[in-house]
Formats: sequence, structure tokens, C-alpha cells
Amino acid sequence: MEIIDGKKISNQIKEEIKYEVQNIISKGDKPPHLAAVLVGEDGASLTYVGSKVSSCKQVGFKSTLVKLPENIKEIDLLSKIAELNDNKEIDGFIVQLPLPKHIDEEKILLAVNPNKDVDGFHPTNFGKMALNMKTFIPATPFGIMELLKRYKIETSGKNTVVIGRSNIVGRPISILMNLKGIPGDSTVTVVHSRTVNLESYTKNADIIISALGIPGFVKKEMVKKGVVIIDVGITRVKDNNSTRGYVIRGDVDFNSVKEKASYITPVPGGVGPMTIAMLLKNTLLSKSLLKNNY
Ligand code: NAD
Repeated sequence: MEIIDGKKISNQIKEEIKYEVQNIISKGDKPPHLAAVLVGEDGASLTYVGSKVSSCKQVGFKSTLVKLPENIKEIDLLSKIAELNDNKEIDGFIVQLPLPKHIDEEKILLAVNPNKDVDGFHPTNFGKMALNMKTFIPATPFGIMELLKRYKIETSGKNTVVIGRSNIVGRPISILMNLKGIPGDSTVTVVHSRTVNLESYTKNADIIISALGIPGFVKKEMVKKGVVIIDVGITRVKDNNSTRGYVIRGDVDFNSVKEKASYITPVPGGVGPMTIAMLLKNTLLSKSLLKNNY
């Protein structure tokens, strides 16, 4: 069994990006500039955005945090997005989700210029991804593909089972694993909350990618020997022994499943750190996309 070290790979990727930024600067060009829009004071969102901004610093990007009040009107958020779309100093930007209930998330995502949509959530980019065209791939699935690639895990002709069908993880990763390519060329099954007898699918899977958000959901009885496990789940579970008062748990019962797995991602330290690294990679791409008027 080999543990897939997402922390190590994400650091390698950041080093590669840093090197490219130095190249850009040495040619007299400006470094990539990422902006992050944060609405409200949600604790988890503040943490996520904070680490996105500090990772920008680490690789030499410029970053701008646009903090807006919880009660901002939808129309004002839309005009902020229009401003970022037009701002030539900004290569890419993200709108941290979830947004407050009074704001229509779909409307906001549609307002982002697809050439600056480094989250890859705009339908134009999602469509391009599904057609195997060059575009921004949502960071978490992009990170999973990069882990499979760098660990040289065979995916062609394998039975891949994706648990969960969200727009940000389950659905895009199911598309990517099925596309022609390396990694890719898998026979993919997507199971979800309405799937009957879910175990009958996971027991036959060569690769399981779990993105549902129920700690310890995947147990050793549900998998076959030699399975590759990619655990996307991140759930805070109350723990009085921890200084923070909680621990982070994945979807997979790591200690029992690792006995049967050929490869497995830990939580934390697996897919999680890859997400930010791939957001940075998308930001680097956004600079060349804008320059080449894609
Ligand atoms: P979501 O809540 O949008 O979707 C969950 C999916 O799981 C749904 O499609 C649902 O059908 C399925 N599901 C729910 N209960 C199920 C059940 N009992 N059996 C089978 N399927 C079931 O979640 P999401 O946004 O895709 O996130 C999933 C998990 O991944 C969460 O823990 C989240 O925190 C984590 N996540 C991690 C990263 C990262 O960077 N590593 C990024 C995004 C999400």
C-alpha cells in the first residue's frame, strides 16, 4: 500500500509555478494576479480564502482580497464582478462559495468572464472541459487528476466509481476520468444518494473517488483488494481532545480500508492541499489565455 502524499505533490507544483513566475518577471512582464471575492464572515470561507491569498504570496503572484458585507445587494455584487471582469490588472478571480441565501449563486457564476474564471465553474468552461478542450478545470478534480498522473496510476480500462455528483467535484471528476487521455479512459460509474445497493458498485471498483462528506462512509467490506482510494471528503468532527475543538475526517475509514488498498489518499494531506495548488495553476493559465485572447 502506498500513501498518496498530496502535501508533497502540492509543494512540488508550487515550486514549479514559482519558477515560471520568475521567468515571467525576468522577461519584464507582471506576475499573475488573482483576486478573491469574499462575501460575509463565514469562518470556513475566511480560512479557505486566507490560505488562497497566502499561497499566492508563496509563489510570487499578486493577490487582492475583495471583502464585501454579508448583506450586500445582489446587484452590487454583480457590479463588483463586472469591475473585476474589466480590470486589466487582474488575470483571474474567484467568488468564494457559499454565498448568502439572498444571492442567486447561478446568476453570479454566469456573470464571471469565462477567461478569468479560474475556478472553472462557468458553463462555458465546464462545457469546454467536457469536450476535452483547453480550459480551466475546477481545482479539486484537477488536483485529483494530477495526483493520479504523478503517481503513474493506471486508469485506462479501469472501473472507476465516483461517489457523489456535485457540480464542483463528483460530476467534473466523472467526466475527466472518462475522457480520452492519461489519466482518463476509465469506465466510470457515478453513485449518489439515490443509488440502490451502492456496495455492489464499490466492490467491483478498481478506483474509488469519494466526494460525499460523510465521515468514514467507505468501509473495508465495500472495497476489493488492490483498490485505489481517492478521498475528497473534508468534514469537521467535534473532538474535545483537539485544541481547535474538532478534527478533520475524510469519507473513508482510512485505518481499515488502507489494509486492502494499493494506493490511498489521507485526510488531511491528500486531495485538500492539491486544490489550492491547482487554483494557482489555473491563474497562471489565465494570464496566457488573456494575453492570447482565447
Ligand atoms: P455536496 O454536498 O455538494 O454533494 C454530496 C454528494 O454526495 C451528492 O451528490 C449526494 O448525492 C451524495 N451523497 C450524499 N449522501 C450520500 C449517500 N448516503 N450515499 C451516496 N451518495 C451520497 O458535496 P461536495 O461539494 O461535492 O463535497 C463533498 C465532500 O468533499 C465534502 O466533505 C466537502 O467538504 C469535500 N470537498 C473537499 C474539497 C477539497 O479541496 N479536498 C473540495 C470540495 C469539497
